[in-house]
Amino acid sequence: MQIEVGRVLFAGKVAGFLNPMGEGISAGMESGYCAACAIMEHFDDPQVACEAYRQSAENLKSYMQRQWSLVGGMAGTFREME
Ligand SMILES: Cc1cc2nc3c(=O)[nH]c(=O)nc-3n(C[C@H](O)[C@H](O)[C@H](O)COP(=O)(O)OP(=O)(O)OC[C@H]3O[C@@H](n4cnc5c(N)ncnc54)[C@H](O)[C@@H]3O)c2cc1C
Repeated sequence: MQIEVGRVLFAGKVAGFLNPMGEGISAGMESGYCAACAIMEHFDDPQVACEAYRQSAENLKSYMQRQWSLVGGMAGTFREME
């Protein structure tokens, strides 16, 4: 398999959608769906596909950031997660 530079979108954990509270499958599926839709709609324009993916995954990203902040605020030992 040959991977063409600039034509790959990451989803799930490797894209940073890692939920510290668990339940990571939904984040993997949601970001994978966003990536697939962006590719489907903008197949011939990788930069537009990338931007469409960023926008459609923005709510998920913001949710993950709130989850990390929540866990970081629970105890001093988790502070670096904030
Ligand atoms: C014991 C356990 C229990 C869990 N229980 C739950 C649960 O009840 N509910 C829940 O929502 N989540 C649960 N999770 C978390 C959930 O499994 C993960 O959050 C989810 O699988 C993340 O999906 P992902 O697609 O991001 O990554 P992954 O599922 O890790 O998929 C990544 C894939 O990429 C492949 N890969 C890696 N490197 C390469 C490479 N170089 N080339 C090609 N392929 C590669 C790997 O083999 C793997 O198949 C659990 C996790 C564990 C460990």
